[in-house]
Amino acid sequence: DLRIINIKKQFKQTERRGDPAFSLQPIQLTIREGEFFSLLGPSGCGKTTLLKLVAGLLQADSGEIWVGDTNLTKVPSESRKFAMVFQQSLLFPHMSVEDNVAFGLKMQKVGKKQRLDKARAMLERVGLAGYGSRLPDELSGGQQQRVALARALVANPRVLLMDEPFSALDPILREEMRELLGRIQKEFRVTVLFVTHDREEAFYLSDRIGIMNEGELLQVGNARDLYERPASTTAATFLGLKNIIEGTVSDGRFSSIGGNFEFAVNDRFQAGQGFLVLRPEAVELMPNASLPPKGSLHVSGVIQQLRFKHGFYLCKVQVGDEQLECVFSSRQRENATAGQKVDLMVDLKDVWIVE
Ligand code: ADP
Ligand code: MG
Repeated sequence: DLRIINIKKQFKQTERRGDPAFSLQPIQLTIREGEFFSLLGPSGCGKTTLLKLVAGLLQADSGEIWVGDTNLTKVPSESRKFAMVFQQSLLFPHMSVEDNVAFGLKMQKVGKKQRLDKARAMLERVGLAGYGSRLPDELSGGQQQRVALARALVANPRVLLMDEPFSALDPILREEMRELLGRIQKEFRVTVLFVTHDREEAFYLSDRIGIMNEGELLQVGNARDLYERPASTTAATFLGLKNIIEGTVSDGRFSSIGGNFEFAVNDRFQAGQGFLVLRPEAVELMPNASLPPKGSLHVSGVIQQLRFKHGFYLCKVQVGDEQLECVFSSRQRENATAGQKVDLMVDLKDVWIVE
């Protein structure tokens, strides 16, 4: 396991003129062996800083980094046996692709023949068989990132650290690289600490995700847990959840401020101020003149907007002073038009309230 124990770092205002001071709050995190773990958060929240602290490229103010039984806190970066892949691949421009990949092995004093054999085999694994003798600038951006991945993996690192490695690529290439990385990570069972601001990417690749904001690790969990049970409105907003409705929980009931949402809640939700989170796909259109089933919340509203996405409709429904975003299948949508009054329901199992 990779253990990050109370790692902390402060940047003083004077270190870089003009920049505001930034502090990475003590971070406590264990990444399991063979796990694909992503740090997800907006730009400037401290993801790269944390990654550099793990890599040993930055000195922490306090805290420790361990892998298994080995304390790496004082071990210099080049001896940690971590590999890094950045947004820009940073290949040696004057070296052939296979020499680039073999470079780390040369440092480890692996013989020439064996080095090249390993480099070629690794290039084949990332789909670049036959490209070994080219120079990096004779490759596309996506191919260069494949080389960077091959170079990172060939030396059999303890942990692979990746900092937004695909964010300079166009969407189609990004998807291809995502697929490739996911497959290779499972094949090699390498532990990956991946940094991204892209929710889709984190969701697609990760076993678990840590949501970061303003130097803090807000919540850790798998994609579905985070999405269905965000721990804070900040996390919910960053996860792209739209329908966040302020209210209070008391006497076993939730009531929204505007009074449009009122329903019984079970005792897993504490009394006090709360924010109701309704996932768009959990909102259902109720058939005309039917009663809401037991164990569901029910509201009426007016359809403001219907937009066809791929395979479903995104619908905005005005409910009192709140606008709800809902997702309807094409079939459900047949009974809905803009301006129409509709009844909506949500199964109480799909209701989440954040303190
Ligand atoms: P992210 O990778 O999530 O976009 P960073 O970790 O790069 O965020 O940066 C977090 C904050 O720390 C930013 O406000 C940035 O300006 C600041 N920062 C990063 N490196 C330094 C440094 N060497 N000196 C001073 N401030 C820094
Ligand atoms: Mg960054």
